[in-house]
Amino acid sequence: MCPNMPRDLTDLLYPRSVAVVGASATPGKIGHALFSNVAGFTGPVYAVNPSHKQILGRPCVPTVADLPADVDLAIIAVPPADALRALDACGRKGIRNAVVITAGFKERRGEGIERERELVRIASAHRMNVLGPNSFGLISPRARLNATFAPRGAFAGTIAFISQSGALGSAVLNWAWQREVGFSFFVSLGNKAVLAENDLLAALARDPETRVIAAYLEGVEDGPEFVRLASEVTRDKPVLVLKAGTTEVGARAAASHTGALAGSDRAYDAAFRRGGVLRVRTVEELLEGAVALSQQPLPRGRRVGIVSNAGGPAILAADAAADEGLELPPLSPGTVASLVERFPAANIANPVDILADASADQFQDAVEWVLADPKVDMGLVLTAPHPVLTFAELARILAAAHRRHAKPVVASFLAGEIGDEAEKILSAAGVSAYFEPARAVRALATLARYREVQDRPPPDRSTVDADRAQARELLGSRGPRLGVESLDLLTAYGIPVARGGVARGPDEAEALAQDLGEEVVLKVVSAEVVHKSDAGGVRIGVPGSGVRDVYREMVRAVPAATGVYVQELLPPGEEVIVGIVRDPTFGPLVMFGLGGVLVEVLEDVAFALAPLSRGEVEELVRSIRGFPLLEGARGRPSVHLPALVEVVERISHLAADFPQIQELDVNPLLCYPDRVVAVDFRATLG
Ligand code: ADP
Ligand code: MG
Repeated sequence: MCPNMPRDLTDLLYPRSVAVVGASATPGKIGHALFSNVAGFTGPVYAVNPSHKQILGRPCVPTVADLPADVDLAIIAVPPADALRALDACGRKGIRNAVVITAGFKERRGEGIERERELVRIASAHRMNVLGPNSFGLISPRARLNATFAPRGAFAGTIAFISQSGALGSAVLNWAWQREVGFSFFVSLGNKAVLAENDLLAALARDPETRVIAAYLEGVEDGPEFVRLASEVTRDKPVLVLKAGTTEVGARAAASHTGALAGSDRAYDAAFRRGGVLRVRTVEELLEGAVALSQQPLPRGRRVGIVSNAGGPAILAADAAADEGLELPPLSPGTVASLVERFPAANIANPVDILADASADQFQDAVEWVLADPKVDMGLVLTAPHPVLTFAELARILAAAHRRHAKPVVASFLAGEIGDEAEKILSAAGVSAYFEPARAVRALATLARYREVQDRPPPDRSTVDADRAQARELLGSRGPRLGVESLDLLTAYGIPVARGGVARGPDEAEALAQDLGEEVVLKVVSAEVVHKSDAGGVRIGVPGSGVRDVYREMVRAVPAATGVYVQELLPPGEEVIVGIVRDPTFGPLVMFGLGGVLVEVLEDVAFALAPLSRGEVEELVRSIRGFPLLEGARGRPSVHLPALVEVVERISHLAADFPQIQELDVNPLLCYPDRVVAVDFRATLG
């Protein structure tokens, strides 16, 4: 199948009739739990089981071959070997969609791996859409299709949930049931042998009932396609992903700084950012973020107005807002004047603390005025239990405010129980309430992040002028390990480099030095030395008269040396690193950070997928903690940012143009107020 041609999952997601292979009439068996759920489907349902004529009042046939011709979807829950036979029989029968719940495939290793390969062969022979194997199933609440063995299904709603873990999926169903959160679809991917996240993402993006897509993923099968697809989908619908496996186990043996600092998690971060995917860190954040996005309007910006009758929680909320990068702007003079008049004893700043004895009327006015303030993009209301005001009263105030203003409103009620009445009012109005102020703030932050995804301009994917033929020739003639002698590769890409050249003997070194100024820098050339300074392979400020001696010393210290690079001596500048690393899932990544010899100590680096547009480079450069150093902190002059940005942009194109570059470091790129210059280079070709 053509990789970019989306699969048609219409009959999988909206089947007209369904069969269950492995339906059981015996309560307590999985095949029974499953079939009792599926039996609730609005359309025709068939059981396949040789021992019965009917199960739960639905027709039962002995084999797949006996099914009527119009079955769209088969749910398979028989032992592994039988599952393959059943799948093949379904294919022969013309059933093009299956959910394989049966486990015992790739996840069991051993013979399971070959079994899964066989499943893929069968599916592709019959051109079938197969979910699983080892899937927890599929739920389409609107069609009352619950093809899982979960004790309870799901309410109908607008969130599509995709899970790579069955257990997590079932936990989420439970959570959602308790809170009456509904789903448009619930899909358990299982082992992703045939259908993976991209197939579902594409299909759910087109589903009119789905407003938010939330996923738990352990990995992405086709990285570049995921990024392309996500960039498209997230323009219309938010996509939230909880990605597991964020800790990198085991040190990577890397031949570059960039390689050592890059882990696949950095690549996922970069890919999600490029795709506009909102990455979350916890299950709760995933679900609460999805709920907020499905209920709330999007804010215009990041400015939050907080109203509270509890001082402590308001401070916690303010702290959380700062952590999430939200702003608490001073309110407009008109708002402040009204509040001061109404609450003469209160502290009228943002957070607005209207004091513990505030009545319902007073609360209502404060919430109304703060939300109406043009300086406020979203509202957060905090309260603790108090005799003057019931939660139900406050819920009514919030519900009304939420209706009147096209701004997100969330609440933090610091109480174990807020009561059924308050809960009903809030959920009917689409106002989310939390215990912890930080969770309420995080939900607002998720809304603001998605607003920013929608607002971002389409990236300008223009290319850079470079002598690609020259670069190709250089790469073809050297390697697999390139060092400082290959700075000329950067020259071919229009990147300024320090003047210099390779000397093969002391005389040559002296001759080269003569053209480079009174003092020069000598660097050992050797494919085996990764950090030249550590090996005594860098000498800075060598006078012309000393070049011959230093040459001899260096070659003696590093027996593997094939020569010495003689380079012009540059004044001290800000040292940054620009690197390339190739991720197995997402391809080339660019790294930028504070550089020099301390790069791995500081770890102040950021990654992005190559190639980068000018705007994306600016974002990358500004994203490191040390950016103020480059911009000129504490009276120091700023480095030439446009020149720096251009170098990163050019290196990102170099990364995209030459897949043979596995890793590459320009460290340091020396940055000055009027220019930037590369003085060191390292690359590994594959
Ligand atoms: P390595 O990274 O292998 O130790 P570098 O070529 O990066 O070797 O040099 C180490 C440090 O020496 C740089 O971080 C920089 O501070 C300084 N340096 C290197 N080349 C020059 C130069 N041409 N002019 C001035 N300082 C330099
Ligand atoms: Mg270096």
